[in-house]
Amino acid sequence: MCKLNCSCPNRQLFYYLILTMSENCLFCKIIKGEIPSKKIYEDDDVFAFYDIAPQAPVHFLVVPKRHISTIMDMQPTDCELVGKMLYRAQIIAKELGIEESGARFVFNCKADAGQTVFHIHLHVLGGQVMGWPPFPKD
Ligand code: 5GP
Ligand code: ZN
Repeated sequence: MCKLNCSCPNRQLFYYLILTMSENCLFCKIIKGEIPSKKIYEDDDVFAFYDIAPQAPVHFLVVPKRHISTIMDMQPTDCELVGKMLYRAQIIAKELGIEESGARFVFNCKADAGQTVFHIHLHVLGGQVMGWPPFPKD
C-alpha cells in the first residue's frame, strides 16, 4: 500500500476515479443544481429533495453534499455527516406531518438491496402502513 502523500500512478488513478465518479453522479449534479429537483432543505453538509418516483404518499431523499458511493464506503470520519442526514430526515418528516404515524428510514446498499444511484441517500417513506419484511417471501 502506498503512503498517503505519495504521487504514484496508483494513487493518481484512485483520485482520478473518485473525481470522475462524482462528476458523473446524478445526485452530485442535483446538489449543484445542474439537474432540477424539488428541494426541501439544504445546508453546508446535507441536501434533501423529493424522490422523482415516490413509493409512498411521503417519499423524500436526504443526501450528503460530499460524494460517498455506498454505505459500505463509510469511514469513521463520516459518522457525524451521516448523523446529520438522519437528524435532518426526522426534522423534515415532522414538518411533513408524519411524526405520529411514523416512517421508514432506508439506505439501500449495492445490488442485493437494489441501489441504483451510487451516492448514499437516506429514503424517508411515510403516509401509509408498510409491510415487513420489505421483500417477497418466494
Ligand atoms: P436507490 O434505488 O438507489 O435506493 O434509490 C434511488 C432513488 O432515486 C429512487 O427512488 C429514484 O426514484 C430516485 N431518483 C432517480 N433519479 C432521480 C432524479 O433525477 N430526481 C429525483 N428527485 N429522484 C431520482
Ligand atoms: Zn455523488
